[in-house]
Amino acid sequence: MTSPITRLCLDCGSPLHGRIDKKFCDDQCRSSYNNKIKAENNGMIKSVNLILKRNRDILEKLNPGKETKVSGSKLMASGFNFNYHTHSYDYHKGNICTFCYEYGYIRLPNDEYLLVKEVVK
Ligand SMILES: [Zn+2]
Repeated sequence: MTSPITRLCLDCGSPLHGRIDKKFCDDQCRSSYNNKIKAENNGMIKSVNLILKRNRDILEKLNPGKETKVSGSKLMASGFNFNYHTHSYDYHKGNICTFCYEYGYIRLPNDEYLLVKEVVK
């Protein structure tokens, strides 16, 4: 009645023998697996950084001064990605400002945005 579950190496998928907590055939499979994870994580960081940098550059271009009002559709048309930002806080009397590095925006009514530049203290 005993049907031992065949455990497979996380890296190469070969059946594992020996200790129940074994996850890899050997050190080679272990390090190969860890390198793949690391590469995946670096890829994720890189692609998020690219989006953040692009968002920041768009805000800089649209807001060369201290403050500018733009429409949300203009931001969208520039390729701005609203899902990615670095930080946000109550900028002025309950108006939350969302930043991509030092450039940020506050959502106004009627699809308008007030673009601001953070003053580094
Ligand atoms: Zn293996």
